Amino acid sequence: MTLWLPHIDLQRCLGSGDCISSCPTQVLDLVDDRAEIVRPDACTYCGSCEWACPQGAISLAYLIRKEIQTPK
Ligand code: SF4
Repeated sequence: MTLWLPHIDLQRCLGSGDCISSCPTQVLDLVDDRAEIVRPDACTYCGSCEWACPQGAISLAYLIRKEIQTPK
């Protein structure tokens, strides 16, 4: 099983905590004044933290899947 998690760019994170308050399942917390994933199993990959971050420090990768149908 692949566990998809948000990526936090620690170079951009200023520790505002906006992502923490936006997360509905308390996945994130501040560690050494930077956002960190502390409960990865609780992440629903909802994207709230990505939208909440004023620095653009959080990103969620998305898989684009292209299906090609062959004529029968
Ligand atoms: S994607 Fe949603 S559940 Fe996961 S850390 Fe961000 S706000 Fe929380």
